[in-house]
Amino acid sequence: MDILDLTALELGQAIKAGQVTIPEATRTALEVIARENPKNNAFITLCADRAMDRAKALQDGLRPDAPPLYGVPMAAKDNLCTQGVKTTCASKILGDFTPPYSATALERLDSAGAVLLGKVNMDEFAMGSTSETSFYGPVKNPRDLTRVPGGSSGGAAAAVAARMGWYALGSDTGGSIRQPGSYCGVTGMKPTYGAVSRYGLIAYASSLDQIGPLCRDARDCAAVLDAMAGRDRRDSTSVDGPYGNVLAQLDGDLRGVRIGLPRECFGQGLDSQVEAAVREMARALAGRGAAVEEFSLPVMDYVVPTYYILASAEASSNLSRFDGVKYGWRAEGYEDLTDLYEKTRTQGFGKEVKRRILLGTFVLSSGYFDAYYKKALQVKSVIAGAYRDAFSKYDLLLTPVAPTTAPKLGQSLHDPLKMYLSDIYTVPVNLAGLPGVSVPCGADRDGLPIGGQLIGPAMGDALVLKAADAYQQEVRP
Ligand code: GLN
Repeated sequence: MDILDLTALELGQAIKAGQVTIPEATRTALEVIARENPKNNAFITLCADRAMDRAKALQDGLRPDAPPLYGVPMAAKDNLCTQGVKTTCASKILGDFTPPYSATALERLDSAGAVLLGKVNMDEFAMGSTSETSFYGPVKNPRDLTRVPGGSSGGAAAAVAARMGWYALGSDTGGSIRQPGSYCGVTGMKPTYGAVSRYGLIAYASSLDQIGPLCRDARDCAAVLDAMAGRDRRDSTSVDGPYGNVLAQLDGDLRGVRIGLPRECFGQGLDSQVEAAVREMARALAGRGAAVEEFSLPVMDYVVPTYYILASAEASSNLSRFDGVKYGWRAEGYEDLTDLYEKTRTQGFGKEVKRRILLGTFVLSSGYFDAYYKKALQVKSVIAGAYRDAFSKYDLLLTPVAPTTAPKLGQSLHDPLKMYLSDIYTVPVNLAGLPGVSVPCGADRDGLPIGGQLIGPAMGDALVLKAADAYQQEVRP
């Protein structure tokens, strides 16, 4: 048995059965990281010694009733606070910031027996679609090192694809789990807004951000979600939803499930090979008993502008806390307090982050607030309403994750507008607060992975994962 071939749940079982020890699994992952990281740059910070100590302690405490992911080594995106472990958000401005507490999601996984291997690379402050804006250098796609892994959780997706750990946590504000999942050929899930506490997630756009898993399959996603979901008094937007036994609901049976394909997501701009693979996925879902049909979702023209106005507005406000006083890095040679702020923020933030802060400050300024920010909020509720209507007719929706497969490194950043437009299929899911999962569903002529996206109604996370799992059972060789 090569333990690298196992899913996270299978490894958990093998650990419980005594077929592999937790230190062995951890050492194996660390060896893969040592070999692969120089190639793909997925990790910013490695916690090798800490992980080995933790692995030994967990092995000593192993009991027959241990939780399913007990002892399984994993990685966390570097915008999740980790007590005692440097957290950079892939930005110069955070310097050597080492949080005094951990994100709730990670604390809960910790109680479920997770072994943290390290912190994974990302677009600076989670702003981007390629993982090329990191202060720590771009991440490369393990499936083809000349391509981007997607973004912003590109390090998390690359780590899972390159077997540098069995699963990873990412964050998704407008697609940052699902799209890199799709580009790297792993399963990535964005839970319903509020399902997972955002406490300890460094905020990008608070009304859209969600933490979620990137895994080898949908069953692993369900197990991670079960371990970390639920109300947390430190995040007032978190809720106690129908979580905790999502895994048990994945029975592979899609009889009676109605799946809608929004016609507007299969039109102009969509690569024909991506379209063919997603339509083939629809046929496989129908093979499991689902009733699949096309329908019209006439809001797609508005989703990208609405998202970028709202996300930038929230970012400009959230990022005002990085001023060289409270956290991380401070510029040298300043004259007074204003000069300290200016120099630190000018030198500490990268170009894309500054673009978002400028755009966000503009749409919130008194002369333009009504025309942009307020209007975008109104359109957001129209978009959410269109999805609510769709879910009165369908249980799930199926769309592509992205219009194309992974672009070449170095090709996207010079045309930000084009890059923003490629987020079209993922951002409405955040605007409407819905759960979505990206499922590998084939490859293009160059062998690059393609992803299909299943979207559910709010709190429908279990159904979304059940359909993803049914599909994976159908196509598994
Ligand atoms: N690409 C989108 C953006 O740059 C989504 C990012 C995300 O989900 N964190 O805003």
